[in-house]
Amino acid sequence: MRQRLAVANWKMNGHLADVAQARAIADGAKDMTGADVLICPPATLIAEVARALEGTAALVGAQDCHAAAGGAHTGDLSAAMLREAGATHVILGHSERRAAYGESDAQVRAKAEGAWAAGLVTVLCVGEDEAVRDAGEAEAFVTAQVEGSVPDGAGPHNTVFAYEPVWAVGTGRSADAETIERMHGAIRRALLRRLGDAAEAIPLLYGGSVKAANAEALFALPQVDGALVGGASLKAEDFCPIIAAL
Ligand code: 13P
Repeated sequence: MRQRLAVANWKMNGHLADVAQARAIADGAKDMTGADVLICPPATLIAEVARALEGTAALVGAQDCHAAAGGAHTGDLSAAMLREAGATHVILGHSERRAAYGESDAQVRAKAEGAWAAGLVTVLCVGEDEAVRDAGEAEAFVTAQVEGSVPDGAGPHNTVFAYEPVWAVGTGRSADAETIERMHGAIRRALLRRLGDAAEAIPLLYGGSVKAANAEALFALPQVDGALVGGASLKAEDFCPIIAAL
């Protein structure tokens, strides 16, 4: 049995006034059993959100970290700093960072090692863009991303994986069930080859235009252990029905 998770990725959205949404999400999740709720606000809000969630079961995460523990890296944040602010998890290798900053698999892997050293669980993202899919190379592309970005020693205690096809992120066009099952199957096989039996219990989330209307069907898929949600995670009224479907 794999851990099930609903992850809110607020991206570059959220101000102090929105901390109340995080609390409302946690309150909406209070009757959940056997699944985690993780809210990843912008780094400026991690400490505030962590405070607001005290006494609830919801967790707080970051959206990126630097690979190094500290030093001359203007504008960056180390995993230890994020942990100190209250984060338990960090999203790494999101397609928006891979696209905007050219983050490579090797960089994602180094960041994951840095995150583990500080005690954070990593939510590692992979996914193909439309051109790769149209070329018929989606499985090979994502398999290579998995192999390149997951460090040795990954297991369910330190790693969650997320399949987020770039063409489904923020487009309203979620991948269909057949595509998700095929891609999740390829990712699981790559993890098993790379990590052995420890890979079996690593949760594998789907992300890309998840909303209340499609959450139940997604979560019914045997290879989907939860969701990584962008737009529909900003407001409790949108995210709570997704949590409830989990
Ligand atoms: P949307 O849910 O807005 O498509 O974003 C998905 C995503 O990128 C979550 O990390």
